[in-house]
Amino acid sequence: MDEFAGNRTDVLIIGGGIIGLCCAYYLNRDGASVRVVDKGDMDEGASHVNAGFLVPSHIEPMAAPGVIAQGLKWLANPESPFYIKPRFDLDLTAWLLGFKAACTKEHLNRSIPVLRDLALEGLALYDDVCRLPEFAGVGPKKTGLIMLHSSDYSEQHNMQFAEMANDAGLVVERLNREETLTLEPGIRSPVTGSVFCKQDESLDPGQFVNTLRKYLEVKGVLFSPGTLVSDMTLSGTRLSSVTTSRGSFEAEHVVLAAGAWSGKLARKAGLKIPLQPATGYSISVDDPENRLSIPLISIEEKITIGPMRGKIRFAGTLTLVGFDSKIDPVRLRPLQRQVKLYFDDIDKGDRTMPDAQSGFRPCSTDGLPIIGKTDPRSNFYIATGHGMLGMTQGLITGKTIAELVAGDQSRFDIPELSPDRF
Ligand SMILES: Cc1cc2nc3c(=O)[nH]c(=O)nc-3n(C[C@H](O)[C@H](O)[C@H](O)COP(=O)(O)OP(=O)(O)OC[C@H]3O[C@@H](n4cnc5c(N)ncnc54)[C@H](O)[C@@H]3O)c2cc1C
Repeated sequence: MDEFAGNRTDVLIIGGGIIGLCCAYYLNRDGASVRVVDKGDMDEGASHVNAGFLVPSHIEPMAAPGVIAQGLKWLANPESPFYIKPRFDLDLTAWLLGFKAACTKEHLNRSIPVLRDLALEGLALYDDVCRLPEFAGVGPKKTGLIMLHSSDYSEQHNMQFAEMANDAGLVVERLNREETLTLEPGIRSPVTGSVFCKQDESLDPGQFVNTLRKYLEVKGVLFSPGTLVSDMTLSGTRLSSVTTSRGSFEAEHVVLAAGAWSGKLARKAGLKIPLQPATGYSISVDDPENRLSIPLISIEEKITIGPMRGKIRFAGTLTLVGFDSKIDPVRLRPLQRQVKLYFDDIDKGDRTMPDAQSGFRPCSTDGLPIIGKTDPRSNFYIATGHGMLGMTQGLITGKTIAELVAGDQSRFDIPELSPDRF
Protein backbone atom coordinates (compact mmCIF):
# COMPACT_ATOMS: atom_id res chain seq x y z
CA MET A 1 0.00 0.00 0.00
CA ASP A 2 1.20 3.49 -0.74
CA GLU A 3 1.16 5.21 2.64
CA PHE A 4 2.12 8.49 0.99
CA ALA A 5 -0.66 8.50 -1.63
CA GLY A 6 -2.02 12.01 -1.94
CA ASN A 7 1.15 13.41 -0.42
CA ARG A 8 2.24 15.16 -3.56
CA THR A 9 4.80 17.94 -3.08
CA ASP A 10 6.14 20.63 -5.37
CA VAL A 11 9.60 19.11 -5.11
CA LEU A 12 10.87 15.65 -4.21
CA ILE A 13 14.53 15.44 -3.23
CA ILE A 14 16.26 12.07 -3.35
CA GLY A 15 19.02 12.04 -0.74
CA GLY A 16 19.28 13.75 2.65
CA GLY A 17 23.03 14.42 2.79
CA ILE A 18 24.45 17.94 2.76
CA ILE A 19 23.48 18.48 -0.89
CA GLY A 20 19.86 17.33 -0.58
CA LEU A 21 19.39 19.38 2.60
CA CYS A 22 20.87 22.53 1.07
CA CYS A 23 18.53 22.14 -1.93
CA ALA A 24 15.62 21.73 0.53
CA TYR A 25 16.70 24.90 2.37
CA TYR A 26 16.52 27.19 -0.66
CA LEU A 27 13.42 25.54 -2.17
CA ASN A 28 11.58 25.86 1.15
CA ARG A 29 12.72 29.46 1.49
CA ASP A 30 11.23 30.13 -1.96
CA GLY A 31 7.86 28.80 -0.77
CA ALA A 32 7.88 25.33 -2.40
CA SER A 33 6.51 22.30 -0.58
CA VAL A 34 9.40 19.83 -0.29
CA ARG A 35 9.88 16.18 0.67
CA VAL A 36 13.30 14.61 1.22
CA VAL A 37 13.49 10.81 0.90
CA ASP A 38 16.52 8.85 2.04
CA LYS A 39 17.26 5.15 2.27
CA GLY A 40 18.94 5.65 5.65
CA ASP A 41 18.39 7.72 8.78
CA MET A 42 20.39 10.70 7.47
CA ASP A 43 22.85 10.45 10.35
CA GLU A 44 25.91 8.84 8.76
CA GLY A 45 28.05 8.75 5.64
CA ALA A 46 30.12 11.35 3.82
CA SER A 47 28.14 14.38 4.96
CA HIS A 48 28.68 13.47 8.62
CA VAL A 49 32.22 12.05 8.74
CA ASN A 50 33.99 14.59 6.53
CA ALA A 51 36.63 17.08 7.65
CA GLY A 52 34.34 20.12 7.45
CA PHE A 53 36.85 22.26 5.53
CA LEU A 54 35.27 25.02 3.44
CA VAL A 55 38.02 25.67 1.00
CA PRO A 56 38.22 28.23 -1.79
CA SER A 57 41.89 27.20 -1.93
CA HIS A 58 40.93 23.82 -3.45
CA ILE A 59 40.91 25.07 -7.02
CA GLU A 60 42.54 22.02 -8.57
CA PRO A 61 39.99 19.41 -9.70
CA MET A 62 40.74 15.78 -8.87
CA ALA A 63 41.32 15.19 -12.59
CA ALA A 64 44.47 17.24 -13.26
CA PRO A 65 47.82 16.81 -15.05
CA GLY A 66 50.23 14.59 -13.08
CA VAL A 67 47.53 12.95 -10.98
CA ILE A 68 47.63 9.63 -12.85
CA ALA A 69 51.43 9.29 -12.58
CA GLN A 70 51.23 10.03 -8.84
CA GLY A 71 48.32 7.59 -8.43
CA LEU A 72 50.26 4.79 -10.14
CA LYS A 73 53.21 5.32 -7.76
CA TRP A 74 50.86 5.15 -4.77
CA LEU A 75 49.27 1.89 -5.96
CA ALA A 76 52.41 -0.04 -4.99
CA ASN A 77 52.28 1.15 -1.37
CA PRO A 78 49.61 -0.46 0.86
CA GLU A 79 49.75 2.53 3.24
CA SER A 80 49.48 5.19 0.53
CA PRO A 81 46.49 7.55 0.49
CA PHE A 82 45.17 6.08 -2.78
CA TYR A 83 44.09 2.64 -3.97
CA ILE A 84 41.97 1.05 -6.70
CA LYS A 85 40.70 -2.45 -6.07
CA PRO A 86 41.47 -4.41 -9.26
CA ARG A 87 38.23 -5.88 -10.61
CA PHE A 88 36.19 -6.37 -13.74
CA ASP A 89 33.74 -3.51 -13.61
CA LEU A 90 32.60 -1.77 -16.79
CA ASP A 91 31.46 1.35 -14.91
CA LEU A 92 34.86 1.70 -13.26
CA THR A 93 36.67 1.17 -16.58
CA ALA A 94 34.53 3.81 -18.31
CA TRP A 95 35.03 6.17 -15.35
CA LEU A 96 38.82 5.74 -15.41
CA LEU A 97 38.91 6.46 -19.15
CA GLY A 98 36.80 9.60 -18.65
CA PHE A 99 39.04 10.64 -15.75
CA LYS A 100 42.20 10.17 -17.85
CA ALA A 101 40.72 12.24 -20.68
CA ALA A 102 40.06 15.10 -18.21
CA CYS A 103 43.61 15.22 -16.84
CA THR A 104 44.69 18.02 -19.18
CA LYS A 105 46.05 21.52 -18.70
CA GLU A 106 43.06 22.93 -20.63
CA HIS A 107 40.59 21.26 -18.29
CA LEU A 108 42.57 22.50 -15.28
CA ASN A 109 42.51 26.09 -16.56
CA ARG A 110 38.77 25.93 -17.23
CA SER A 111 38.04 24.39 -13.82
CA ILE A 112 40.02 26.77 -11.61
CA PRO A 113 37.68 29.79 -11.84
CA VAL A 114 34.61 27.54 -11.53
CA LEU A 115 35.84 25.84 -8.34
CA ARG A 116 37.06 29.15 -6.89
CA ASP A 117 33.76 30.94 -7.50
CA LEU A 118 31.59 28.06 -6.29
CA ALA A 119 33.59 28.06 -3.05
CA LEU A 120 33.76 31.82 -2.49
CA GLU A 121 30.06 32.31 -3.19
CA GLY A 122 29.27 29.20 -1.15
CA LEU A 123 31.14 30.61 1.85
CA ALA A 124 29.17 33.85 1.69
CA LEU A 125 25.98 31.74 1.85
CA TYR A 126 27.23 29.98 5.00
CA ASP A 127 27.48 33.43 6.59
CA ASP A 128 23.85 34.18 5.64
CA VAL A 129 22.47 30.88 6.90
CA CYS A 130 24.52 30.82 10.10
CA ARG A 131 23.26 34.28 11.06
CA LEU A 132 19.87 32.62 11.74
CA PRO A 133 19.37 32.18 15.51
CA GLU A 134 18.77 28.43 15.06
CA PHE A 135 22.37 28.12 13.82
CA ALA A 136 23.99 29.87 16.78
CA GLY A 137 27.38 28.30 17.49
CA VAL A 138 27.29 26.19 14.32
CA GLY A 139 28.82 28.60 11.79
CA PRO A 140 32.24 28.29 10.21
CA LYS A 141 35.42 29.36 12.00
CA LYS A 142 37.30 31.86 9.86
CA THR A 143 40.81 30.84 10.83
CA GLY A 144 42.28 30.06 7.44
CA LEU A 145 43.98 26.73 6.76
CA ILE A 146 47.65 25.71 6.80
CA MET A 147 49.01 23.31 4.17
CA LEU A 148 52.14 21.75 5.68
CA HIS A 149 55.11 20.44 3.75
CA SER A 150 57.90 18.35 5.21
CA SER A 151 60.12 17.30 2.27
CA ASP A 152 61.54 18.80 -0.91
CA TYR A 153 58.86 16.97 -2.87
CA SER A 154 55.91 18.27 -0.87
CA GLU A 155 57.45 21.75 -0.68
CA GLN A 156 57.69 21.86 -4.47
CA HIS A 157 54.06 20.75 -4.75
CA ASN A 158 53.00 23.36 -2.18
CA MET A 159 54.88 26.18 -3.92
CA GLN A 160 53.29 25.29 -7.28
CA PHE A 161 49.92 25.31 -5.57
CA ALA A 162 50.65 28.74 -3.99
CA GLU A 163 51.53 30.20 -7.37
CA MET A 164 48.38 28.79 -8.96
CA ALA A 165 46.22 30.10 -6.08
CA ASN A 166 47.84 33.57 -6.27
CA ASP A 167 47.27 33.65 -10.02
CA ALA A 168 43.61 32.81 -9.39
CA GLY A 169 43.37 35.85 -7.10
CA LEU A 170 43.23 33.92 -3.82
CA VAL A 171 45.00 35.13 -0.69
CA VAL A 172 47.72 32.65 0.23
CA GLU A 173 51.02 33.21 2.05
CA ARG A 174 54.21 31.14 1.96
CA LEU A 175 55.59 30.55 5.47
CA ASN A 176 58.87 29.04 6.72
CA ARG A 177 58.97 26.55 9.59
CA GLU A 178 59.27 29.19 12.35
CA GLU A 179 56.48 31.33 10.90
CA THR A 180 54.27 28.24 10.58
CA LEU A 181 54.84 27.21 14.19
CA THR A 182 54.28 30.76 15.42
CA LEU A 183 50.96 30.90 13.60
CA GLU A 184 49.83 27.52 14.99
CA PRO A 185 51.97 26.43 17.96
CA GLY A 186 49.88 23.26 18.34
CA ILE A 187 51.33 21.62 15.19
CA ARG A 188 52.86 18.20 15.92
CA SER A 189 53.11 16.91 12.33
CA PRO A 190 56.55 17.10 10.68
CA VAL A 191 56.92 20.52 9.02
CA THR A 192 59.62 22.39 7.12
CA GLY A 193 57.27 25.14 5.93
CA SER A 194 53.73 25.76 4.72
CA VAL A 195 51.24 27.71 2.67
CA PHE A 196 48.63 29.61 4.66
CA CYS A 197 45.28 29.85 2.83
CA LYS A 198 43.71 32.86 4.50
CA GLN A 199 40.20 32.61 3.03
CA ASP A 200 39.55 29.00 4.05
CA GLU A 201 37.13 28.22 6.87
CA SER A 202 35.90 25.13 8.71
CA LEU A 203 33.00 23.77 10.73
CA ASP A 204 31.73 20.61 12.35
CA PRO A 205 29.87 19.02 9.41
CA GLY A 206 27.66 16.71 11.48
CA GLN A 207 26.58 19.61 13.67
CA PHE A 208 25.75 21.76 10.64
CA VAL A 209 23.83 19.01 8.82
CA ASN A 210 21.83 18.03 11.94
CA THR A 211 20.99 21.66 12.71
CA LEU A 212 19.91 22.23 9.11
CA ARG A 213 17.66 19.18 9.19
CA LYS A 214 15.99 20.26 12.44
CA TYR A 215 15.52 23.77 11.06
CA LEU A 216 13.91 22.39 7.89
CA GLU A 217 11.57 20.12 9.88
CA VAL A 218 10.30 23.16 11.80
CA LYS A 219 9.88 25.03 8.51
CA GLY A 220 7.62 22.26 7.18
CA VAL A 221 9.93 20.22 4.96
CA LEU A 222 8.77 16.58 5.00
CA PHE A 223 11.35 13.88 5.66
CA SER A 224 10.99 10.21 4.74
CA PRO A 225 13.95 8.28 6.16
CA GLY A 226 14.23 4.54 5.50
CA THR A 227 12.82 5.04 2.01
CA LEU A 228 14.90 3.48 -0.75
CA VAL A 229 14.31 4.85 -4.24
CA SER A 230 14.32 1.84 -6.54
CA ASP A 231 13.07 3.19 -9.84
CA MET A 232 12.27 6.31 -11.79
CA THR A 233 10.17 6.59 -14.90
CA LEU A 234 10.65 9.20 -17.58
CA SER A 235 7.72 10.06 -19.86
CA GLY A 236 9.41 11.91 -22.66
CA THR A 237 11.66 14.40 -20.91
CA ARG A 238 9.59 14.58 -17.71
CA LEU A 239 9.96 12.37 -14.69
CA SER A 240 6.50 11.03 -14.03
CA SER A 241 7.00 8.96 -10.89
CA VAL A 242 9.57 7.81 -8.38
CA THR A 243 9.18 4.32 -6.95
CA THR A 244 10.43 3.63 -3.44
CA SER A 245 10.40 0.85 -0.86
CA ARG A 246 7.48 2.72 0.76
CA GLY A 247 5.35 3.41 -2.28
CA SER A 248 5.62 5.80 -5.18
CA PHE A 249 5.90 9.57 -5.00
CA GLU A 250 4.81 12.29 -7.32
CA ALA A 251 6.09 15.83 -7.52
CA GLU A 252 6.22 18.74 -9.93
CA HIS A 253 10.04 18.63 -9.78
CA VAL A 254 12.50 15.92 -8.74
CA VAL A 255 16.07 16.59 -7.55
CA LEU A 256 18.57 13.73 -7.55
CA ALA A 257 21.02 14.39 -4.70
CA ALA A 258 21.84 10.80 -3.73
CA GLY A 259 25.61 11.31 -3.47
CA ALA A 260 27.75 8.50 -4.86
CA TRP A 261 24.62 6.43 -5.61
CA SER A 262 23.25 9.07 -8.01
CA GLY A 263 24.91 7.51 -11.09
CA LYS A 264 23.09 4.21 -10.65
CA LEU A 265 19.77 5.97 -10.01
CA ALA A 266 20.16 8.31 -12.98
CA ARG A 267 20.63 5.29 -15.21
CA LYS A 268 17.11 4.16 -14.28
CA ALA A 269 15.87 7.33 -15.90
CA GLY A 270 18.06 6.66 -18.94
CA LEU A 271 20.71 9.25 -18.04
CA LYS A 272 24.49 8.90 -18.00
CA ILE A 273 26.00 10.42 -14.87
CA PRO A 274 29.48 8.85 -14.47
CA LEU A 275 30.29 8.64 -10.76
CA GLN A 276 32.48 6.46 -8.58
CA PRO A 277 32.27 6.22 -4.80
CA ALA A 278 35.70 7.25 -3.48
CA THR A 279 35.89 5.96 0.08
CA GLY A 280 37.44 8.19 2.73
CA TYR A 281 38.11 7.60 6.43
CA SER A 282 38.07 9.83 9.45
CA ILE A 283 38.91 9.47 13.14
CA SER A 284 37.57 11.95 15.70
CA VAL A 285 39.35 12.34 19.02
CA ASP A 286 37.94 14.22 22.02
CA ASP A 287 40.06 17.23 22.78
CA PRO A 288 38.60 19.27 25.64
CA GLU A 289 41.83 21.30 25.76
CA ASN A 290 41.30 22.58 22.18
CA ARG A 291 45.00 22.19 21.52
CA LEU A 292 44.77 23.25 17.87
CA SER A 293 42.95 26.27 16.44
CA ILE A 294 43.76 26.27 12.72
CA PRO A 295 42.88 23.38 10.36
CA LEU A 296 45.89 21.66 8.80
CA ILE A 297 46.62 19.54 5.76
CA SER A 298 49.71 17.36 5.68
CA ILE A 299 50.62 17.49 1.97
CA GLU A 300 53.02 14.57 2.28
CA GLU A 301 50.38 12.12 3.51
CA LYS A 302 47.24 13.83 2.22
CA ILE A 303 45.76 13.92 5.71
CA THR A 304 43.53 16.69 7.03
CA ILE A 305 43.58 17.63 10.71
CA GLY A 306 40.50 19.59 11.67
CA PRO A 307 39.98 21.16 15.08
CA MET A 308 36.27 21.24 15.94
CA ARG A 309 34.73 22.33 19.21
CA GLY A 310 36.02 19.82 21.78
CA LYS A 311 37.53 17.40 19.27
CA ILE A 312 40.02 17.03 16.45
CA ARG A 313 39.05 15.11 13.32
CA PHE A 314 41.74 13.42 11.23
CA ALA A 315 40.58 12.52 7.70
CA GLY A 316 42.08 11.09 4.55
CA THR A 317 42.43 8.11 2.18
CA LEU A 318 40.79 7.82 -1.21
CA THR A 319 40.06 4.31 -2.40
CA LEU A 320 38.05 3.14 -5.39
CA VAL A 321 36.75 -0.14 -3.98
CA GLY A 322 33.09 0.17 -4.92
CA PHE A 323 30.38 0.58 -2.28
CA ASP A 324 32.42 -1.14 0.42
CA SER A 325 32.41 0.78 3.69
CA LYS A 326 34.77 -1.66 5.50
CA ILE A 327 37.83 0.05 6.93
CA ASP A 328 41.13 -1.39 5.68
CA PRO A 329 43.36 -1.56 8.81
CA VAL A 330 46.59 -1.18 6.83
CA ARG A 331 45.45 1.89 4.94
CA LEU A 332 44.18 3.38 8.20
CA ARG A 333 47.68 3.32 9.77
CA PRO A 334 48.90 6.72 8.47
CA LEU A 335 45.77 8.35 9.91
CA GLN A 336 46.34 6.61 13.26
CA ARG A 337 50.00 7.72 13.24
CA GLN A 338 48.89 11.34 12.86
CA VAL A 339 46.43 10.86 15.73
CA LYS A 340 49.24 9.60 17.95
CA LEU A 341 51.42 12.63 17.14
CA TYR A 342 48.74 14.85 18.64
CA PHE A 343 47.53 12.48 21.38
CA ASP A 344 50.57 10.58 22.64
CA ASP A 345 48.53 9.08 25.49
CA ILE A 346 46.42 7.07 23.02
CA ASP A 347 46.77 3.30 23.35
CA LYS A 348 48.49 3.87 26.71
CA GLY A 349 46.57 3.46 29.96
CA ASP A 350 42.80 3.82 29.52
CA ARG A 351 42.74 5.85 26.32
CA THR A 352 42.29 3.78 23.16
CA MET A 353 42.32 4.76 19.50
CA PRO A 354 38.76 5.75 18.52
CA ASP A 355 37.13 3.74 15.72
CA ALA A 356 37.38 5.16 12.22
CA GLN A 357 34.30 6.04 10.16
CA SER A 358 33.97 5.96 6.40
CA GLY A 359 32.03 7.79 3.72
CA PHE A 360 31.72 7.73 -0.06
CA ARG A 361 32.76 10.86 -1.92
CA PRO A 362 30.67 11.14 -5.10
CA CYS A 363 33.41 11.61 -7.70
CA SER A 364 32.69 12.67 -11.27
CA THR A 365 35.13 11.85 -14.06
CA ASP A 366 36.25 15.47 -14.53
CA GLY A 367 36.39 16.43 -10.84
CA LEU A 368 33.64 19.04 -11.12
CA PRO A 369 30.20 18.77 -9.55
CA ILE A 370 27.15 18.03 -11.68
CA ILE A 371 24.51 20.67 -11.10
CA GLY A 372 21.62 21.41 -13.42
CA LYS A 373 18.51 20.42 -15.26
CA THR A 374 18.72 17.27 -17.33
CA ASP A 375 16.90 18.86 -20.27
CA PRO A 376 15.43 22.36 -20.77
CA ARG A 377 11.90 20.86 -20.88
CA SER A 378 12.44 18.48 -18.01
CA ASN A 379 11.37 18.55 -14.35
CA PHE A 380 14.39 16.47 -13.30
CA TYR A 381 17.50 18.08 -11.75
CA ILE A 382 20.88 16.64 -10.80
CA ALA A 383 22.89 17.84 -7.80
CA THR A 384 25.85 15.53 -7.22
CA GLY A 385 29.48 14.74 -8.06
CA HIS A 386 30.93 17.08 -5.43
CA GLY A 387 33.80 14.69 -4.68
CA MET A 388 36.01 16.14 -1.97
CA LEU A 389 34.14 19.45 -1.83
CA GLY A 390 30.52 18.72 -0.97
CA MET A 391 30.57 20.72 2.27
CA THR A 392 32.22 23.67 0.54
CA GLN A 393 29.78 23.64 -2.36
CA GLY A 394 26.60 22.50 -0.57
CA LEU A 395 24.80 25.81 -0.12
CA ILE A 396 25.75 27.21 -3.52
CA THR A 397 24.46 23.99 -5.09
CA GLY A 398 21.16 24.27 -3.22
CA LYS A 399 20.75 27.90 -4.27
CA THR A 400 21.48 27.03 -7.90
CA ILE A 401 18.95 24.20 -7.95
CA ALA A 402 16.27 26.39 -6.36
CA GLU A 403 16.87 29.08 -9.00
CA LEU A 404 16.50 26.51 -11.78
CA VAL A 405 13.33 25.06 -10.27
CA ALA A 406 11.89 28.59 -10.10
CA GLY A 407 12.76 29.05 -13.79
CA ASP A 408 15.15 31.89 -12.96
CA GLN A 409 18.54 32.68 -14.47
CA SER A 410 21.28 31.02 -12.44
CA ARG A 411 24.91 32.12 -12.20
CA PHE A 412 26.10 28.50 -12.13
CA ASP A 413 23.86 27.14 -14.88
CA ILE A 414 26.99 26.69 -17.00
CA PRO A 415 28.29 24.03 -19.42
CA GLU A 416 31.17 23.08 -17.08
CA LEU A 417 28.65 21.82 -14.49
CA SER A 418 25.87 20.64 -16.78
CA PRO A 419 24.57 17.04 -16.42
CA ASP A 420 24.63 16.66 -20.22
CA ARG A 421 28.39 17.23 -20.56
CA PHE A 422 29.26 13.51 -20.42
C1 LIG B 1 36.72 11.45 4.74
C2 LIG B 1 36.05 12.57 3.97
C3 LIG B 1 36.48 13.88 4.16
C4 LIG B 1 35.88 14.93 3.45
N1 LIG B 1 36.25 16.21 3.73
C5 LIG B 1 35.61 17.25 3.12
C6 LIG B 1 35.91 18.60 3.47
O1 LIG B 1 36.74 18.84 4.34
N2 LIG B 1 35.27 19.59 2.82
C7 LIG B 1 34.34 19.35 1.85
O2 LIG B 1 33.83 20.32 1.26
N3 LIG B 1 34.00 18.07 1.52
C8 LIG B 1 34.60 17.03 2.14
N4 LIG B 1 34.29 15.73 1.82
C9 LIG B 1 33.31 15.50 0.74
C10 LIG B 1 31.89 15.62 1.22
O3 LIG B 1 31.73 14.95 2.43
C11 LIG B 1 30.95 15.04 0.15
O4 LIG B 1 31.21 15.67 -1.09
C12 LIG B 1 29.50 15.29 0.52
O5 LIG B 1 29.23 14.81 1.81
C13 LIG B 1 28.56 14.64 -0.48
O6 LIG B 1 27.27 14.92 -0.04
P1 LIG B 1 25.99 14.29 -0.73
O7 LIG B 1 24.81 14.86 -0.06
O8 LIG B 1 26.13 14.43 -2.21
O9 LIG B 1 26.13 12.72 -0.47
P2 LIG B 1 25.84 11.87 0.85
O10 LIG B 1 26.25 12.56 2.06
O11 LIG B 1 26.43 10.53 0.58
O12 LIG B 1 24.26 11.78 0.87
C14 LIG B 1 23.58 11.06 -0.11
C15 LIG B 1 22.33 10.50 0.54
O13 LIG B 1 21.55 9.83 -0.47
C16 LIG B 1 20.97 8.69 0.11
N5 LIG B 1 20.64 7.72 -0.96
C17 LIG B 1 21.51 7.09 -1.77
N6 LIG B 1 20.84 6.24 -2.59
C18 LIG B 1 19.53 6.34 -2.29
C19 LIG B 1 18.35 5.72 -2.77
N7 LIG B 1 18.40 4.81 -3.75
N8 LIG B 1 17.18 6.05 -2.22
C20 LIG B 1 17.10 6.97 -1.21
N9 LIG B 1 18.20 7.59 -0.70
C21 LIG B 1 19.40 7.29 -1.25
C22 LIG B 1 22.04 8.16 1.05
O14 LIG B 1 21.48 7.34 2.07
C23 LIG B 1 22.66 9.44 1.60
O15 LIG B 1 22.08 9.84 2.84
C24 LIG B 1 34.85 14.66 2.50
C25 LIG B 1 34.42 13.34 2.32
C26 LIG B 1 35.00 12.30 3.04
C27 LIG B 1 34.50 10.91 2.84
